[in-house]
Amino acid sequence: MAIVIDKDKCVGCSLCLQNCPFNAITMVDGKAEIGEACTACGTCIDVCPVGAISKEETKKEGVDITQYHGVWVVAEQREGKLQNVAIELLGEGRKLADDLGCELAAVVLGKNVSAIADELGHYGADKVYFADADELEIYTTDAYSKVIYEAVEKYKPEVLLIGATYLGRDLAPALAVRLNTGLTADCTKLEIDKEHMQLMQTRPTFGGNLMATILCPNDRPQMSTVRPGVMAKAEYREDGKAEKIELAATFADGDIRTKVLDVVKAVGETVSLTDAKVIVAGGNGVGGPEGFELLKKLADKLGGTIAASRACVDNGWIDHSYQVGQTGTTVKPALYIACGISGAIQHLAGMQESGQIVAINKNETAPIFEVADYGIVGDLFKVIPAILDELDKRPE
Ligand code: FAD
Ligand code: SF4
Ligand code: SF4
Repeated sequence: MAIVIDKDKCVGCSLCLQNCPFNAITMVDGKAEIGEACTACGTCIDVCPVGAISKEETKKEGVDITQYHGVWVVAEQREGKLQNVAIELLGEGRKLADDLGCELAAVVLGKNVSAIADELGHYGADKVYFADADELEIYTTDAYSKVIYEAVEKYKPEVLLIGATYLGRDLAPALAVRLNTGLTADCTKLEIDKEHMQLMQTRPTFGGNLMATILCPNDRPQMSTVRPGVMAKAEYREDGKAEKIELAATFADGDIRTKVLDVVKAVGETVSLTDAKVIVAGGNGVGGPEGFELLKKLADKLGGTIAASRACVDNGWIDHSYQVGQTGTTVKPALYIACGISGAIQHLAGMQESGQIVAINKNETAPIFEVADYGIVGDLFKVIPAILDELDKRPE
């Protein structure tokens, strides 16, 4: 879509220029001219008194979408270890491939990744495209996007799924731009529209208050990122075996514009919320960093880990790696105990798929009780010690 000005009609009143929210219009020789900053918002069309401005369809060179087949999952590995998100994407990818009646393939890049390629077969991939090269040992945007771009151009998958990890969030947009296709980030649900055989990509929007379903009808592949912990993992099958196809991974000077000098691991405690079976999460109600000490006692007793709402992270009480929710981690433990958390929609987005939810809150109208299986109305500083006392009385 482009905005065009009929110079014959324009009387140079400059009303469009004054009303453009993006300062995209200039006056040249007494006539309005649209610049590159134009977002095609349409404001100027309505203000022009002589109807000199209109929208024009821009025709993109057509993509023959019938050439694209198969569901691909980018299987992330770190230091030779397949990441859980890859197994989750294979679980979801299998459903999509079955609905589309096509193959499920995984793509894995790195150095000495042949064993991982075999592992992916056990998790249900029909094919594994793999690339082995020194340049792929440590992730760089240029190297990864080049190899996957070339593979997509050659094999033409119709769906391409990537984990919304730090790596995936960097790789996916770079690839989407190179492939000139759409990308829906942070999807929480993927389905096939059986009538048009296209991917329906659902994700939270407007701060989590609405769910938007996004389609990519004219371009391929249909690309989505999915957060770790959202989809169910594929099952490991002893007899699972994939056909392995090696991808070209050749790089000319200048192809990789960044050089990794050193990898510095984050110092301090590392938390794996996505793997935790029990999570004891604290919100504003814990009152300060010391409040988490009480939660930690309960978590330790139950063999779990602590987590937090964003309010606690914003207050500087706990590190962001502990945050559960829309802008934190999505978790699915067997037991989630929410202590002093009100239950804002952005928090619920990250934990409502938990097996059992217990809420402790002194306000009986707190929205967290709407998703809780068990609710305790009371002061967490009294309730948690009472639970700990009760647990102490029980045999280990
Ligand atoms: P509050 O809303 O202040 O609730 C505290 C609760 O504790 C209250 O219900 C109160 O009754 C109870 N309480 C107080 N004292 C006690 C006590 N002694 N015993 C028992 N109960 C007590 N939030 C997230 O958590 N994760 C996210 O990823 C996230 N992403 C966001 C993204 C966007 C774009 C936006 C706009 C917001 C996001 N938020 C997120 C913030 C979210 O909207 C809420 O502000 C936040 O979750 C509130 O945290 P809380 O429940 O800890 O605090
Ligand atoms: Fe400005 Fe919107 Fe008109 Fe473009 S369409 S020139 S952004 S007012
Ligand atoms: Fe020309 Fe219309 Fe813009 Fe006025 S509002 S300068 S007539 S295009």
